[in-house]
Amino acid sequence: MLDDMLDYLEHIRGRPVWQPIPREVRARFRQALPMGPTDLAQVHQEFMQDILPFGVGNAHPGFVGWVHGGGTPVGMLAEMLAAGLNANLGGRDQIPVEVERQVTRWVCELFHFPESASGLFVTGTSMANLIGVLVARSAALGAGVRDKGIAASGKRLTAYASAGAHGCIAQAMDLSGLGSDALRIIPMNDRFQMNVEALERAIAADRRIGHTPFLIAGTAGSVDVGAIDDLARLAHIAHRERIWLHVDGAYGALAMLAPEIAPRLAGIERADSIAFDFHKWGQVPYDAGFILVRDATLHQSAFTTPAAYLRRETRGMAGGSPWPCDLGPDLSRGFRALKTWFTIKVYGAEALGRVISGSCALARYMGQCIEAAPMLELLAPVSLNIVCFRYRCADADRVNADIVISLQESGVVAPSTTIVNGRLAIRAAIVNHRTNSSDIDALIRGAIAFGERDGVQLRKAS
Ligand SMILES: *Cc1c(COP(=O)(O)O)cnc(C)c1O
Repeated sequence: MLDDMLDYLEHIRGRPVWQPIPREVRARFRQALPMGPTDLAQVHQEFMQDILPFGVGNAHPGFVGWVHGGGTPVGMLAEMLAAGLNANLGGRDQIPVEVERQVTRWVCELFHFPESASGLFVTGTSMANLIGVLVARSAALGAGVRDKGIAASGKRLTAYASAGAHGCIAQAMDLSGLGSDALRIIPMNDRFQMNVEALERAIAADRRIGHTPFLIAGTAGSVDVGAIDDLARLAHIAHRERIWLHVDGAYGALAMLAPEIAPRLAGIERADSIAFDFHKWGQVPYDAGFILVRDATLHQSAFTTPAAYLRRETRGMAGGSPWPCDLGPDLSRGFRALKTWFTIKVYGAEALGRVISGSCALARYMGQCIEAAPMLELLAPVSLNIVCFRYRCADADRVNADIVISLQESGVVAPSTTIVNGRLAIRAAIVNHRTNSSDIDALIRGAIAFGERDGVQLRKAS
């Protein structure tokens, strides 16, 4: 099995990024509950034949859809060790929890947070943003909100994020009981950053009608175009208004590892909480999201729940309090910290930073290729690692959506789509360390070829 997976990763470029799933393969996953045993070699064979070839292909260098990380063999081996150990990181006195605390301290160093800050591995940034909202809610209303509920406070808490913010911020408002309508969507400026004057007006307007502004959610690396909000100005406003500043840095926050990009994140060191993923630009295999909270006491008071069966001691296995289960909703938790610890140690922070710089350089190269091709147009400036463009033609939304499907089905490169200023864009997010300029060239060539093909079909049809 180990050989198969090392071969898979070594030769992944020779495979299709993705391929349509044959009906008979899908049908093999509609079987009755197996009552008896099956030979391990047989099940492994089924994995090789029916599962491995039909993933979404984000380890492949041609995968540039959505924001997916590529993973590494080192991360894979660490996952094997973690699974062998079968550690449960809910708490108790064990070195696996110390590994998580070690990663937390490295993260504090990276973001210039005090060493006393607290951090927690979670599934992904969606969950990390939810935890950020919940801690900010407790900070605004007091931990009593956990017992009495929001209504008892008589306050209407309002939050602010840019129109380019990820949908999981609104979802976090929904899940936390504050309601997604209480998230004010602030328009963007021409660089796709939150318009800070509009933010100030929105906060003032809410105060005038008696609402309680409690949270600004800045974005470091927007999902559509890779924009970074002006975090220093957001920090200034949040401080002045006594509002919690949370940063959604799902993939972009780790650009702190790249010396020439880090200055663009200035202000992140003043955030109250930061959500980000190691499984995107950090190249750690799924899943490895993370929430960092400046004030460890507030973080703990938003989640810690006494229970007789979770009693703490100063000696024995029940030592080592506070436990990770005091910092989020999960009790049983896997050892996500191990693959992250291995990845950071084996490659080193500088090499991870070079991957991030390299992705941005490829995105700039791609932007130049698009500007040099008269039949293509950029739909947003290339700010980080995301490029949004399209083939110029009649009925462009439909044709470009079709180009993306054709590219994905070609198995060579796989971008995704988004809408920029009301127009459908072919969107490439370069995240994987395996992607190089030949993949970008193939994407540009393919987009032009499929665009020409669709244009011919369109002319024939009309
Ligand atoms: C990917 C992403 C998220 C969601 O993170 P998950 O790890 O998928 O839960 C949130 N915000 C931004 C900006 C993202 O790119």
